[in-house]
Amino acid sequence: MGIVVQKYGGSSLADAAAIKRVARRIVESKRAGHDVVVAVSAMGDSTDELLDLANEVSPLPPAREMDMLLTAGERISMALVAMAISDLGFTARSFTGSQAGVITDSVHGKAKIIDVTPGRISSALEDGHIVIVAGFQGVSQDTKEITTLGRGGTDTTAVALAAALEADYCEIYTDVDGVFTADPRIVPTARKLDRVSYEEMLELAACGAKILHLRCVEYARRYDIPIHVRSSFSHLEGTWVVPDPSFTAPDSPEGETMEQAIIAGVAHDRSEAKITVVGVPDKVGEAARIFEALADAQINLDMIVQNISAAATSLTDISFTLPRADGQTAMKALAALRDEVGFASLLYDDKIGKISLIGAGMRSHPGVSAKFFSAIAAAGVNIQMISTSEIRISVIVDEGLVDAAVAAAHTAFDLDATEVEAVVYGGTGR
Ligand code: ADP
Ligand code: ASP
Ligand code: MG
Repeated sequence: MGIVVQKYGGSSLADAAAIKRVARRIVESKRAGHDVVVAVSAMGDSTDELLDLANEVSPLPPAREMDMLLTAGERISMALVAMAISDLGFTARSFTGSQAGVITDSVHGKAKIIDVTPGRISSALEDGHIVIVAGFQGVSQDTKEITTLGRGGTDTTAVALAAALEADYCEIYTDVDGVFTADPRIVPTARKLDRVSYEEMLELAACGAKILHLRCVEYARRYDIPIHVRSSFSHLEGTWVVPDPSFTAPDSPEGETMEQAIIAGVAHDRSEAKITVVGVPDKVGEAARIFEALADAQINLDMIVQNISAAATSLTDISFTLPRADGQTAMKALAALRDEVGFASLLYDDKIGKISLIGAGMRSHPGVSAKFFSAIAAAGVNIQMISTSEIRISVIVDEGLVDAAVAAAHTAFDLDATEVEAVVYGGTGR
């Protein structure tokens, strides 16, 4: 039997009892004859609590120190899980990301993994130990500083370890039974997907479905690692994230395949803000100047809309969305351009939410946008912005109307389950 890589999220490690439960689950895999490598997240909401604490101490904490602080959360989990395993009569060795050979670039807070050199993990496995790795962290190749991979990054640690150790697949254990057609916290009738393609999962993750970290899905696709997303609270089969829906799970009994659905699911995101630059002169090069300033400030934009200018004034408005966390930096960068570009004013709105409908089948099915917009209209929700890709349609709406719009779109595309309600076993949804 080969190497199994598992990841347990914070919601599965909320307290001492949960840690003992996870340890029993890890030991089950070891007993079954696997070499087991586990990536763990910080307990419960402790990463958020550490962030709150840092912000109480300092309004703008240095990024290096923030990473030193946040990586402590995962170190606590890894040691406690290793202790609980040793009480069950097995030996475990815990390693920080740096010790485990997770090498990253030097960007604090959102570092990218550039290499994994799992020498210490392999020797520990050879010695018969279960290996526990602190997730969400690594060490920079150039600066030798400790880095973090961005919120939710333990998923990426797990997949990167699975790729480096040539595991057949990676198991992501969480507080729901798999990937659903919408967040089961807001749509209890959401249906669990048996399989979802990398392509659709990438769009779901990029559009706010925090069940998987976006980079973990990118990594899985690049190295062709199937991901099995499942609950640590049940023994049910979860969702396989795979190259295409005809993929057969390694332990699937009948090798059955599934017909491709038109829509994989509806995702929502409340982490963005919208900025409107009002009264921009409609001349060559103005948009370039505005967006260069934002690029220089290292801000990633999402949707961009430019209105047609009114003939009488030759002025236009440009609106775009960006992560709320970068809102103030962007407003400062733009304000500095006001005289040079000659726009009239800036508007900032962070009371928005994004709803995205995702499905590879929309490539070949006309009428999907019409049905989506009608469903949102029928729910009494006004659409502020629209953007599309080949397999996605996203709209920006008022933040308070996000739940209603998600539910309406979910029902319009017949995604509601009729038999069972989705179970949310733990977590606070924070
Ligand atoms: P963990 O602590 O295990 O990393 P997260 O809170 O990061 O867990 O991710 C699991 C949560 O993702 C679920 O509890 C659920 O509320 C949310 N979620 C959002 N979209 C989806 C979806 N489409 N399917 C399943 N869960 C989703
Ligand atoms: N503890 C980190 C977070 O809360 C990483 C993770 O859970 O994956 O974002
Ligand atoms: Mg997570």
